[in-house]
Amino acid sequence: MTRRSLVIVPAEAADKIRASAGAWGTLGMVRAPSDDLFVITAYQAGKSGAVLPVRTASGQERHRRVEEGAYEASWHRADAVTHWAHYSLSARPDHCMPLEQFRRLIPTAPHPHNDAVLVLTHAPGVTDNPDLDRLPEFAAWRVTREGAEPFDLAVEPRAYGLGQLVGHWPVEALSARAVLVVGVGSIGGEVASSLAGYGVGQLDLLDPDRLLWHNTVRHVLGEGDIGRFKTDALRDMLTTRWPSLDARSHVKDVVRDADHVRLLLQEVDAVVCAADGIAPRRVVSHLARRAGRDAILTSVLEDGAFGEVLRLRRAPDEGCLLCRRADLYGTGRMDPERALERGYGDGDPHRPMTAVGPDLHLMGDLAAKVTVASLLQRQGHNEQRLPGEQAIVALRPQPGFEAPFDLGRAGQVQWHPATPPRPDCITCSTP
Ligand SMILES: [Zn+2]
Repeated sequence: MTRRSLVIVPAEAADKIRASAGAWGTLGMVRAPSDDLFVITAYQAGKSGAVLPVRTASGQERHRRVEEGAYEASWHRADAVTHWAHYSLSARPDHCMPLEQFRRLIPTAPHPHNDAVLVLTHAPGVTDNPDLDRLPEFAAWRVTREGAEPFDLAVEPRAYGLGQLVGHWPVEALSARAVLVVGVGSIGGEVASSLAGYGVGQLDLLDPDRLLWHNTVRHVLGEGDIGRFKTDALRDMLTTRWPSLDARSHVKDVVRDADHVRLLLQEVDAVVCAADGIAPRRVVSHLARRAGRDAILTSVLEDGAFGEVLRLRRAPDEGCLLCRRADLYGTGRMDPERALERGYGDGDPHRPMTAVGPDLHLMGDLAAKVTVASLLQRQGHNEQRLPGEQAIVALRPQPGFEAPFDLGRAGQVQWHPATPPRPDCITCSTP
């Protein structure tokens, strides 16, 4: 038990101490020596009350890692003066409070004899007093014959996670939104992670593939999920990380199972396509336009030189994917769709994967940002307007490309407007 140790107090234990009619009691703890950590696992009022087990709502994983060995501590009711002393001593690492003084403040505290004992103090009401706003409601002390010194303590809050952001970020609005992510490879996995972090309430993950060894160098999923369907593993990872998220796995192919996707589109607010290849992008562009949903397409082009995020909205002056590309085909410039036809990232040893994971994740994060901006703008958040409908990001830029791929510096981002529909487009024409 050193000064750097930490004791974790589960919310359940904190509530029992707050509610106790008594002035003190006993606490059971387990210790994780490798983390220099103690976790409260049992609560008792006084010395003869029932011993009640307590555990953190969130820390089941940590409990499993906690090694054998039970330790005892005690809790005591204290006043603001005691916690003021704790606060002052915390800033002075070489000082402690003489034992006699500590036992005058906390008469119920045990005598340490030859050991060090851990004492928790609870000062009710200090957090209600605006003049005492630096004082904690709970404090921990390491008490020896020399005296009492502050010990680090963390009380598990009753509510945390995305709810903490209410008032700072429209989490309530986003929790009611659903997004379909087509393709959960290296880019799409990051898209889904990022959308969950923004607070989107429902994610439909669609991909036919399993995670294999060569994927893990760039994927958000790791070796522990090798062999699983990517959508299942990602759903499990995300719902562990964000318990309120409704994540759904669809082991489907967007082209072969287009009918399934057509139905899904009715239930979501937007779709992100991060799948490899031209066909999935064209299918998503067509189906989303017909369903009246915003589609966000993202990919990495030219062996990792550039990344692109393209937003396709159903607007009279904004064309579908093919209409947006028509200008590039027509003038004989670089054809990004053809660049994708090479099956970038398919793991074929003859076509080595040249983009590094974080560059792909950067594009996944930008696609998620564009998606969330679209959702919020439709709900009146005008600060979420974007500079354009197509973003080109230079990752490892190479010379010789024409506009819009003529960026010269890594990290450079250029936004371009949408181009209008072609008059004969079957996707953009009114059905
Ligand atoms: Zn079109």
